[in-house]
Parts: sequence; C-alpha cells; structure tokens
Amino acid sequence: MKQTPLEEKIAARMQPGVITLSGFLGLDERHYHEIIEADESVMVAYGVSAEEIADRLEYFTTSTYESFQGPVIIDDIYEVETEITRGKLPCPFSHPGLYRKTITTLTNLNTGVTLRWTGLNIHLIRAHHFFEGKGSVFRLDPDLLIKNIF
Ligand SMILES: [Zn+2]
Repeated sequence: MKQTPLEEKIAARMQPGVITLSGFLGLDERHYHEIIEADESVMVAYGVSAEEIADRLEYFTTSTYESFQGPVIIDDIYEVETEITRGKLPCPFSHPGLYRKTITTLTNLNTGVTLRWTGLNIHLIRAHHFFEGKGSVFRLDPDLLIKNIF
C-alpha cells in the first residue's frame, strides 16, 4: 500500500517504544487502516457508532474519576474503577494535545467480562475509530465491548 508521508509518520508512532512502550498494534500485521475498517464493520453490524461507544466509556471513566476508595457499582451491573497515573500521552495520529493517563477497569457483573481502557483509548475510538491492533495491551475488541457496556 502506498502511504502518504503523514500515514507513514502515524504508522511509525504506533510502533513499540515511540509513544508507549508496547505500541498500539500488538501482534497485528495489518495496516492501521485495515484494522479500522474491520472494526467499523463490527460497529455497523451492531448499529452502534464510535461516538456512542466513546460516550459510554467516558461516562464510566468520569463517573469514577473522583473515587479514591476502589471500585464503585454503576447502574447495578458494572463494577468500575479508574486509576489516574502520572503523565500524559499524545495521540499517534498527530493531533495536538495530550491525554491524561487514566486507566479504567470495568467488570460487567452479569457476564463476568472485565474490560480496561485509557483516556487515550476513548479519544482514539471517538476521533479515529481505532480500537488498536490485536494483541496490543489496550486493544478493545468492539464486539466484546458492545456486548458488555450497553
Ligand atoms: Zn487523535
């Protein structure tokens, strides 16, 4: 695939050790465009938008932002905790601005599934429809996500 200089730069910023130690692509050998396209087709199949997913993740994160006493139960079935660590991360798509390093952990008590995401994940989903590559530490599988957060 012929890439523009910007696309090459973005792909380079997704590699391990550039923005984050483990990078954004995991073991996925697809181009980030293909990862985005495949995940968009999952959202289309469910009739859920990236905006709706990002809003939902943001709701859980902001609801637990000020909770310093461990996990809280939200809407009866979600056990959620947000940890704020030092530092900020830039967006690999070269947006200006930095994203706080928050890590939110959610367990859906009905399904027993636990999901984890960062503040940067929320931005990547909302602005770029990017859920990261398979095997990436913060990969969020849209199918699993949609089944467990709505
Ligand atoms: Zn961005």
